[in-house]
Amino acid sequence: MRLTLAQGKRGLMMNSDKVDLVHYLNNPVECSCGRTHFAGIEFVEIGDEALDKVASIVRNAGYQKPFVIADCNTQKIAGEVVLEKLSKEGIPASSFVFDDPALSPNESALGTLLMNFDPTCDLILGVGSGTINDLSRFFSYQLGMQYFIVATAPSMDGYASSVAPLLKNNLKTTFECHVPKAIVADLDILSKAPVEMIAAGFGDVLGKYTCLADWQLSAIINDEYYCDRVAALTRHSLEKTIGLRKGIASGDKKAIGELMETLILSGVAISYVGNSRPASGSEHHLAHFWEMRLLWGGRSHVLHGTNVGIGTVLILQLYQYLLQENLDPKTFESIQAPLSDTWSADIERVFLEGASEVLALEEKARKNDLELHKDRLAAIAQNWDQILQTLATVPSPAEARALLAEVHAPFEPAHVGIEPQLVSDALLFAKEIRARYTVLQLLWDLNLLRNFAGRIVLGAED
Ligand SMILES: [Zn+2]
Ligand SMILES: [Zn+2]
Repeated sequence: MRLTLAQGKRGLMMNSDKVDLVHYLNNPVECSCGRTHFAGIEFVEIGDEALDKVASIVRNAGYQKPFVIADCNTQKIAGEVVLEKLSKEGIPASSFVFDDPALSPNESALGTLLMNFDPTCDLILGVGSGTINDLSRFFSYQLGMQYFIVATAPSMDGYASSVAPLLKNNLKTTFECHVPKAIVADLDILSKAPVEMIAAGFGDVLGKYTCLADWQLSAIINDEYYCDRVAALTRHSLEKTIGLRKGIASGDKKAIGELMETLILSGVAISYVGNSRPASGSEHHLAHFWEMRLLWGGRSHVLHGTNVGIGTVLILQLYQYLLQENLDPKTFESIQAPLSDTWSADIERVFLEGASEVLALEEKARKNDLELHKDRLAAIAQNWDQILQTLATVPSPAEARALLAEVHAPFEPAHVGIEPQLVSDALLFAKEIRARYTVLQLLWDLNLLRNFAGRIVLGAED
């Protein structure tokens, strides 16, 4: 059990060999990348009976009256206990409980919160995981208030992050917000979370292999900002988590606590960079694509981290195909951008309600612009050896499948009802969701995306 109040130690240098959460909280890190990294989280409590600490953390942080946000599931799991503990300590609170456990983080949910908010409160206290955390983060940020999160499952890495992925006009859109002031993770609750939620957290962590490699690819090809130390921090905690998979699969409290630390550190890395680059690459493009399509189709909800795990396997397959292709960089100059007359119609077909946002993004980001494509091809040819080295930093798709199977996670699209058409659409068009360079855009640049996507879909139909 540990209560962490991180303060002082101004200007501490980050040591990438040692991963100790306390060093990364509320503590500016001067880095050789030229930036000072900072994550303004003040309290992290991971441990047995951590819920007992909520009231004292609220009081010590100087808040008078929290507004507790939960859904009908998380209210039963932890919300009721939190309200009881606050009341016992003489801390008044108001609360709102969503009655839909399959809530979407969209305009309607935020409007509901606004209509039920008690303006005499001075702190938002979310009780839940993905959706409740994202809503609490965005809602508190817009109100100019701070927020705490009481985690109910180690199912995703958004707890400590500074961004909120929300549905705006039906499109998954990431908003820059702020980090929570406190994260409380009770291991009695987390270790009893449903197996699929724990497996989803593991899937979200596994995705760091491809997201880190994607980030490096963009640094090489587009000279995008890249920080070795943030990448090393993420990779270190990723590998630690992989090593603990047996304990994670059996719900061992210590292993679950370590998984939670890794999920928190991943969010810290996002805060350090100011966007989700160190935690989200092409595997997340696929996951977000499926999340939107399944939602629009009114189909059963699949956990974010589950989609990320499945997406990671597919992206690793693309990495492997590209490595095996034995391309000659001298030929790159003559590659034509695979533009098609039907592109806009394809976007309308594939993105349905979200199509107008995707088309507007392309106007702004010009991901598929011919001149920019030419420039990138030159950079790809020039740095081909370095690109090949980066492609070789990830595990094989077979290894990733085996890891997911060990924690009882689905690892094929078909396991969660994603049909070959949705696999194909995601591989070809998920890159249009945001202006972030990944292996999907690299394959488009090399005019290999359609071919590789076809091979994956054929494999899936076998
Ligand atoms: Zn740095
Ligand atoms: Zn994620």
